[in-house]
Amino acid sequence: MDAQSPKVAVFDTKPYDREYLAAAEGSDAVQWTFHEFRLMAENAQIVAGANSVCVFVNDVVDAEALGILADCGVKHIGLRCAGFNNVDLHAAEARGIAVTRVPNYSPYAVAEHTVGLLLCLNRKIHRAYNRVREFNFSLNGLVGFDLHGKTAGIVGTGKIGRILAGIFRGFGMRVIAMDPYPDPTWAADAGVEYASLEDLLCASDVVSLHVPLTPETHHIVNEKTLALMKPGVVLLNVSRGALIHTKALIDALKSGHVGGVALDVYEEEEGVFFEDLSGLVLEDDELARLLTFPNVLITAHQAFMTREAMEEISRVTVGNILRAARDEDFLEQTKL
Ligand code: NAD
Repeated sequence: MDAQSPKVAVFDTKPYDREYLAAAEGSDAVQWTFHEFRLMAENAQIVAGANSVCVFVNDVVDAEALGILADCGVKHIGLRCAGFNNVDLHAAEARGIAVTRVPNYSPYAVAEHTVGLLLCLNRKIHRAYNRVREFNFSLNGLVGFDLHGKTAGIVGTGKIGRILAGIFRGFGMRVIAMDPYPDPTWAADAGVEYASLEDLLCASDVVSLHVPLTPETHHIVNEKTLALMKPGVVLLNVSRGALIHTKALIDALKSGHVGGVALDVYEEEEGVFFEDLSGLVLEDDELARLLTFPNVLITAHQAFMTREAMEEISRVTVGNILRAARDEDFLEQTKL
């Protein structure tokens, strides 16, 4: 390490972030400062002296925070995730800050977790696990349904949606999909049919969301679109919490219209997911309500968390940091 080594402030650091970032090639050439708290305008000043800032999904990198970071001399925001809805890209560009992410670490990790959630929820494995550990070997209430022959609707056929489509096809499911940029060649090869969102929602037994969070996709699942879904539909969201209007979802669960929900993300997950809050009072009433339904399964944003994904996230993030420190025209090269 020398005086030229980039100085990097890492936010929302967990022990596994340190472990994988430290093990990545090139990591020794970086001067790391790890913060356990999330970045926001109120604490952005702490980065003074850093060249890059490394953030995750719930850091708040809005125009105000970016202004402070720019004044502190930060030239680069390195997201160690794929989604970038928490960064104001226009403000970053205006302040001459390059933004990088890890667009493609392991779509398999996320697609496989989605399938894990569906199988667990449908076959009630989480409930069976608890019962058997208490020597309750009763099967009452554990009836699921065959996935074979059912219809899966995939909203968003990017990297993750396509892998999930392949897995569902392997189960013998009919797969229909919706994407504003359809790929008919892929669909024909994969045995997937494209449809409108409305037709997809009306026809699917399982609906899975794989779109980024944008103004267009915000609350794409709402009172109106929930009403279009088949009674008993199973809804999966491992993408971003605000794709679903939580209040409308709770109403649809209470009425019995929705048969099951598996979530890896939640609209108000910031400050809750990734934290150990056991022993504290859960202040979020909607999350608390969701957790009371026997047919709701929630994991705390862990779909990305495989060894392969963590290694790739760290490798690409460290590479981005080193390039940002080296290349004069890095800002131009990194428009997201
Ligand atoms: P991707 O960019 O490869 O694919 C996204 C797809 O969504 C694209 O094909 C795009 O055309 C489509 N799309 C955009 N707007 C749409 C709309 N209004 N309706 C339908 N489709 C639309 O992204 P990806 O790698 O497949 O990831 C998808 C999302 O998964 C990410 O944006 C991220 O939010 C989320 N994610 C979650 C985790 C996790 O750990 N839970 C991990 C990685 C990614």
